[in-house]
Amino acid sequence: MAEKMLQFVRLAQHQPDKRDATDRRADWNEVYRPFVAEAATEQASRCSQCGVPFCQVHCPLNNNIPDWLKLTAEGRLEEAYEVASATNNFPEICGRVCPQDRLCEGNCVIEKGFEAVTIGAVEKYITDTAWENGWVKPPKPVRERPESIGIIGAGPAGMAAAERLRVLGFQVVIYDRHDRAGGLMIYGIPNFKLEKDVVVRRWHQYAEGGIEFRLNCAVGRDISLGELRRKHAAVLIATGVYKARDIAAPGADLPGVVAALDYLIASNRKGLGDAVPAFDSGALNAEGRHVVVIGGGDTAMDCVRTATRQGAASVTCLYRRDKANMPGSMREVYNAEEEGVRFAWLAAPDAFEGKAKVEAVRAVRMHLGLPDATGRQQVEPIAGSDFTLKADLVIKALGFDPEDLPVMFDEAALSVTRWGTLKVDHRSMMTALPGVFAAGDILRGASLVVWGIRDGRDVAEQIAAFVEAGKSSIAVAAE
Ligand code: FAD
Ligand code: SF4
Ligand code: SF4
Repeated sequence: MAEKMLQFVRLAQHQPDKRDATDRRADWNEVYRPFVAEAATEQASRCSQCGVPFCQVHCPLNNNIPDWLKLTAEGRLEEAYEVASATNNFPEICGRVCPQDRLCEGNCVIEKGFEAVTIGAVEKYITDTAWENGWVKPPKPVRERPESIGIIGAGPAGMAAAERLRVLGFQVVIYDRHDRAGGLMIYGIPNFKLEKDVVVRRWHQYAEGGIEFRLNCAVGRDISLGELRRKHAAVLIATGVYKARDIAAPGADLPGVVAALDYLIASNRKGLGDAVPAFDSGALNAEGRHVVVIGGGDTAMDCVRTATRQGAASVTCLYRRDKANMPGSMREVYNAEEEGVRFAWLAAPDAFEGKAKVEAVRAVRMHLGLPDATGRQQVEPIAGSDFTLKADLVIKALGFDPEDLPVMFDEAALSVTRWGTLKVDHRSMMTALPGVFAAGDILRGASLVVWGIRDGRDVAEQIAAFVEAGKSSIAVAAE
């Protein structure tokens, strides 16, 4: 092994520099500065090249992390990019948005005592460098095939499947109800975590590689699933989950109480230069407002940090458990704290007060009780602990459920689980409808970009096998 590695004993962990919180609040640019080449090489060299790399085991894509760290440490960046992109369609995006503290880095063996290798930041550095140097190429089939595949949804799952299928030679058409490709990577995740041109350049490169995008096309409204099944050799449903969970409290329907995704989509569209009447009217704009965000996940963190950048008068996050039990990435919680967000831990809304519109949130303090069957501590209200928070914009960020797909697609035979996600055969990833497959959040429930990519890659192989099997059965029948 090159003596370049194992430097963790000598070199401390050093994440790329974070911009000052005051500067961050004043713009929409990403929080972390890029690694300079020397820092990336040094940080990569901290890896101890484990025989059983737990980082790789805990990466949903099983990325070959030790190999690309070693290549980076040796300055062989083009090869590092080849290795990183062999298992991941968007390494630069995962490097930015994966909750590494829960995945690869959280399982790095030198984490105990020496702090993890900065895997995500190096992955981002390698791939950003690859883009700068023109090493990232459009998908290119070795040989064209006549069969076409229809994909519903241009999020990470649909896009990853599209790339793989295109490389295998299929004619690929992606249908999306939005006017831009990227799914939640373009309209959900804010610019300060993932700058939009990073997503747009992938979309444009896929189009250059022959993947057809039919945007502004909602399946179930503009075209039916039945029609897609007749047009294509196979269809993939990768539509994500979008039905916002609601709060059953008095006043929850007052004007000024809004859903997180409506709020974030308006903000992202504004940043992309679109006309957004609901933003301009103030309905989905936090400027000068007292904002209360309800929830403790990544979506809630994105909302509080968006509100600070819009110039809110105050931003408070109301979460019914404590900090240690927050489901969101701790890194994002710290970033929010630095940016001036106030947290009201162990507190839940009881009612929304106001006449013509919301003016305050009445909340109650909670305490953590005994664990339930899943081991998670139950929360219970503390009697007489009510308090009031001034609020003229309340954002509900309580998670998402799937839309009713059998109804939306008018296909009663499309079976769903009790959570509303699509039911598939777990090996073939095919739904109850022959030739119709599923991937991403609509299959596993609200999840992560990296899991969407994983599903997209897996389902592409299953679709290819399905089409091949269909061809051979036709050939057998014709004999
Ligand atoms: P999506 O990305 O939701 O894409 C689905 C696409 O299908 C959309 O473009 C939609 O327009 C389209 N569609 C839906 N219905 C139809 C229809 N009928 N016809 C045509 N098109 C349709 N994950 C992370 O890893 N890190 C993060 O930091 C992170 N932050 C997040 C922040 C927010 C605010 C949210 C909401 C999610 C975040 N996630 C994050 C989760 C991540 O974005 C999702 O898990 C991932 O995008 C799911 O990918 P997908 O392809 O299954 O679906
Ligand atoms: Fe870590 Fe995500 Fe990259 Fe895997 S894809 S190595 S989990 S940052
Ligand atoms: Fe390197 Fe950490 Fe992975 Fe071991 S677990 S191979 S030290 S990154």
